Amino acid sequence: MEATNSLLDAAAVGDLVLLDPLTEESLLHTLQERFRRSDIYTYIGNVVISVNPYRSLPIYTPEKVEEYHNCNFFAVKPHIYAIADDAYRSLRDRDRDQCILITGESGAGKTEASKLVMSYVAAVCSKGEEVDKVKEQLLQSNPVLEAFGNAKTVRNDNSSRFGKYMDVEFDFKGEPLGGVISNCEYRSPILGGSHLTRAGDADPCLQTCWRNPLSSSYQASGMEACSIAEPQELQEICELIGLDPGRLERALCSRTVKARDETVLTTLSVPQGYYGRDALAKNIYSRLFDWLVNRINASIQVKPGKQRKVMGVLDIYGFEIFQDNSFEQFIINYCNEKLQQIFILMTLKEEQEEYVREGIQWTPVEFFDNSIICNLIENSKCGILAMLDEECLRPGVVNEDTFLTKLNQLFATHKHYESKETQNARHVMDASLLPQCFRIHHYAGKVTYNVTGFIEKNNDLLFRDLSQAMWAAQHTLLRSLFPEGDPQKVSLKLPPTAGFQFKASVTTLMKNLYSKNPNYIRCIKPNETKTAMLFTPELVLAQIRYLGLMENVRVRRAGYAFRQLYSPFLERYKMLSPRTWPRWAGSDREGAEVLLAELAFPPEELAFGHTKIFIRSPRTLFDLERQRQE
Ligand code: ATP
Ligand code: MG
Repeated sequence: MEATNSLLDAAAVGDLVLLDPLTEESLLHTLQERFRRSDIYTYIGNVVISVNPYRSLPIYTPEKVEEYHNCNFFAVKPHIYAIADDAYRSLRDRDRDQCILITGESGAGKTEASKLVMSYVAAVCSKGEEVDKVKEQLLQSNPVLEAFGNAKTVRNDNSSRFGKYMDVEFDFKGEPLGGVISNCEYRSPILGGSHLTRAGDADPCLQTCWRNPLSSSYQASGMEACSIAEPQELQEICELIGLDPGRLERALCSRTVKARDETVLTTLSVPQGYYGRDALAKNIYSRLFDWLVNRINASIQVKPGKQRKVMGVLDIYGFEIFQDNSFEQFIINYCNEKLQQIFILMTLKEEQEEYVREGIQWTPVEFFDNSIICNLIENSKCGILAMLDEECLRPGVVNEDTFLTKLNQLFATHKHYESKETQNARHVMDASLLPQCFRIHHYAGKVTYNVTGFIEKNNDLLFRDLSQAMWAAQHTLLRSLFPEGDPQKVSLKLPPTAGFQFKASVTTLMKNLYSKNPNYIRCIKPNETKTAMLFTPELVLAQIRYLGLMENVRVRRAGYAFRQLYSPFLERYKMLSPRTWPRWAGSDREGAEVLLAELAFPPEELAFGHTKIFIRSPRTLFDLERQRQE
């Protein structure tokens, strides 16, 4: 196996679980050295780290597919195909639903990785006219979604502006039947027009291609009220959607407010006008995208009633830490905190199950349990999201000050919460934390969030006048996207907040993932300039932290760092004992016992399972390897 072939050469360590010593520097160094040799894939147990090479490598050929097809995981170089193969086989032969979780920052290679997994599975599962048609449909859904949902940004020429989760469904023989796509919308509704609003993210040229025809059209008229500056633009839009321009103008510049028994038309201020216009643009875009996803789903869905096995692929934004972090980062980091929680729970669960299967004494291991952070955010009574919702629903003047004050009171002594006020109470001097911010100590690091805009973004309201105007348009598709605009169906209920909806979709996603066997692909972006083979250590180190890779390694080797079936183990090391060399007459397990007894390793270093040998620390394995090389 590669991991042990030349262990004395740290860079050749294909599995970071075996890294010794384990430090951020050694981890970074290993990734860098491997990257230099074009080994872009490295494992942590069965987690794959993938460093974007930004050039096409000859490692995705049909010959490679053949090489990894039914391979022995440990006998071949780390590769995304090995994980895909392992997951597919386990689904087909052991009836275990799988999920593949792909995370990383923009441009790190998530979407490419998800396509590699899908195309690998498509290549190795059986062929035939019917199956090929299904495969084609599943694979072809990607370009359609990308055409609509991707855009060029400064960070990535083909950046996904939506989070995607796709369940591919198979029959009992492992042949694909169809699938279901969910638009996780981790970015779209909230970041919505992120190209329009997020400075530094979008390409300047993109801002013009995305320019809302109304964007320059407001002017302050008289007092504070707004009006349309370019009636020509309004006219053009209305021709396209089949709507009376007067109607749209009214909806963009004023609002109907019900007060007791009266209905009053109030004019909007310029900022309110901009808010309404942006909300409309975001809503049209995200509803249309949802419609598209539904259309694709209708064509790939599997008839109900069929027994099926499922492989889910999640292509989702990773942890974000910027200079300025707002509601969007708070939301995405919450999701990543949940993904980490599931990672810990499932890894430990799986470890435990393996120990039980192998008949090994299970001793609970120390690890950082991040449920305290998840709880801080999502607790339905007093979590940060619940507090935000409470603030949003409060009648009267609401602002972020009262929200922050509340958090400061509630979490005055919370270990993972910090603000200027709690710092003062603890006599901490820290000029970097501004009064309008709070800081959360996430598993991946500390992030400071500015509360400005939290309420507006959480409310995510579309003025009713605008949805009614859309519903009045003759354009049938557009009209169908705004059913709540039907005056017959006016509801007095406030729509759920963005935070509430997001929490609900995270909960559903977690439930879904938790029912499956997880496989992780952690993508790393090696440089900021999309340059082939350039590795910027500081940039990668930051991602090693956000992705929690050190914690990954610790969890993975919390019990036994290394395990292997007796037969290959004995085969590799039998030369170390005259009693097992050249041939051992007994069982493989007895052979391993005899061999290891002779080498006199401390007993707590080893455990003998029913089918596998377990070795606690990498050092013991290195020792074995060193002796073998001598
Ligand atoms: P975003 O979050 O913005 O959607 P992403 O993580 O999905 O980003 P990708 O679109 O998958 O990033 O990758 C960005 C670019 O990097 C690709 O268009 C491709 O040029 C290059 N790339 C990624 N992975 C590989 C790979 N394995 N081999 C060669 N090039 C790659
Ligand atoms: Mg992508």
